[in-house]
Amino acid sequence: MRDDLCSAYLCAPVTSAPVAYRYAEQRLRAPALACADHPAGRWYSAPSPRIGERHDSVRARYRRSITIVAPQFSHLAGRVWLCPGDPDPEAVQAGVAVVADERGSVMIDAGQSPAHAREIQAALTAAGLPQPRWLVYTHHHWDHVWGACAWPGVEIVGHETAVPLLRAEAARPWSHDYLDEQIRANPRLGPSFRARARAVGSWADFAILPPTRVFADLDELPVGVGLRHVGGGHAPDSTVVLVPDSGVMLLGDCFYPPPAHLRQPEDGLDLGLVRRLLDGAYHWYVSSHAEPMTLEQARSAAEAA
Ligand SMILES: [Zn+2]
Repeated sequence: MRDDLCSAYLCAPVTSAPVAYRYAEQRLRAPALACADHPAGRWYSAPSPRIGERHDSVRARYRRSITIVAPQFSHLAGRVWLCPGDPDPEAVQAGVAVVADERGSVMIDAGQSPAHAREIQAALTAAGLPQPRWLVYTHHHWDHVWGACAWPGVEIVGHETAVPLLRAEAARPWSHDYLDEQIRANPRLGPSFRARARAVGSWADFAILPPTRVFADLDELPVGVGLRHVGGGHAPDSTVVLVPDSGVMLLGDCFYPPPAHLRQPEDGLDLGLVRRLLDGAYHWYVSSHAEPMTLEQARSAAEAA
């Protein structure tokens, strides 16, 4: 029994971590090293703790009421389906999308780990969607690409600047010990690297794969899916995916600030980039870590920011 892990992920005292429970009624991801009650690599739904409830009471109630739920695709518009990531920000798990096509679907982002990719594959099958022929990286960050090695037979598509970045990432000696060392050397890596340690239970089947089909400014896949490089402060290879027949633009993380360990105090959302993208040609705008927004909602959010 790993009560320390249960405490960290499922049963932490309400008084010390109220924000951690914000999403408790939706779903929670078990840690990579889990206890008998909470096997690793599964999703759970659970009730929110009551204000002031004692830790042991919360834990007991979770154990009685917790149910396993799997990630699933939901239809957004036209050919586009979304499988959201873990809503817990500490999980650092990006959502993915698929443009369904009988000639071969287009997967947008790979999942944060091989295990996550396999869950997405199960969700794809459960939804009855055609298997992917292309896997597009919105950018090279780990929570978007570390699942790629579990997508056999796809052509990986990304911006040309992703290739050297991912080659360098692939050459690092990834392991839980390495992650620990890196956090000790640079504590600002902690949230990201601890999330990686939780996401990858075994490194035996793990590899980081650079794209094999690259482009400079624009590309269009044979099934009518457009790719447009936008770059920006979050990642130099940031790409938006355009599905004009469905009225959907997939934004990845393109307008977010730089990753936490590189962020400067003055860094914020790239609202200039958002405003340039909201040109009215698309009805839906989907970022990787949030609910999809309509054009009107996106414009309001950009004005309010
Ligand atoms: Zn990112």
